[in-house]
Amino acid sequence: MLSIKNLKASIEDGTQILKGINLEVKPGEVHAIMGPNGSGKSTLSKVIAGHPAYTVNDGSVTLDGKDLLSMEICDRANSGLFISTQYPTEIPGVNNVEFLQMALNSKRAYQGLEPLADADFKKLCEEKMAMLEMDDRYRDRGVNDGFSGGEKKRNEILQMAILDPKVSFLDETDSGLDIDALRIVAHGINQIMSPEKAVILVTHYQRLLDYIKPTYVHVLRHGKIILSGGPELALKLEEQGYDWIEEN
Ligand code: ADP
Ligand code: MG
Repeated sequence: MLSIKNLKASIEDGTQILKGINLEVKPGEVHAIMGPNGSGKSTLSKVIAGHPAYTVNDGSVTLDGKDLLSMEICDRANSGLFISTQYPTEIPGVNNVEFLQMALNSKRAYQGLEPLADADFKKLCEEKMAMLEMDDRYRDRGVNDGFSGGEKKRNEILQMAILDPKVSFLDETDSGLDIDALRIVAHGINQIMSPEKAVILVTHYQRLLDYIKPTYVHVLRHGKIILSGGPELALKLEEQGYDWIEEN
């Protein structure tokens, strides 16, 4: 479904950050990406999303066979890609729920569907907010405006729940969450997941993977995936760190 082949990308001064990433994500799969700070995990998500700070030097990224890299950012999202960033942006003055409604309706327009009626959207939103145990205070505040770190992460998963993407790339969604919030958010992600969808989780900790069982675990270091394995790899990393892995 999401196919990343030999992806290389650099920043403005020419430094190459991604040095040939290969990743095949199929429907129903959960991929965990781990790796030391500064490896290129967040860069990978931003390059897939189309962040203007990065230049793709080589390789391809396709979603259901469509070339994502040649698409406008909004079309990537409308085609079913969702990226939750490590540091969610605050947008003061833009009502959280109105933002979600507009985002959902533009996605529906892209798919040739009618906009969701206000009452139907309200119902959908209430249902998803209840699933994430978010109270009404978050409805009418600006997007992430003054939200705590954990509240922002929860709000990102609300966006995911409403937009119902095919492939979600969640960058350190567990950071800043307290123990209860972690459980609630992980439960939410599991609810959104289905055999037709896939999730890529960037995380440093096994505890998220206790709730969301990964199909594969990958180690990204120095811009490359240097090792892949099953769920047991995350346990080994938690015990032994990254230094035992040989890079080729
Ligand atoms: P990770 O998410 O794995 O911790 P990042 O992808 O954020 O790592 O960063 C990888 C490396 O690339 C780091 O050394 C970071 O400083 C550098 N980098 C990423 N984006 C930029 C940028 N826009 N400008 C300068 N350096 C960047
Ligand atoms: Mg990061």
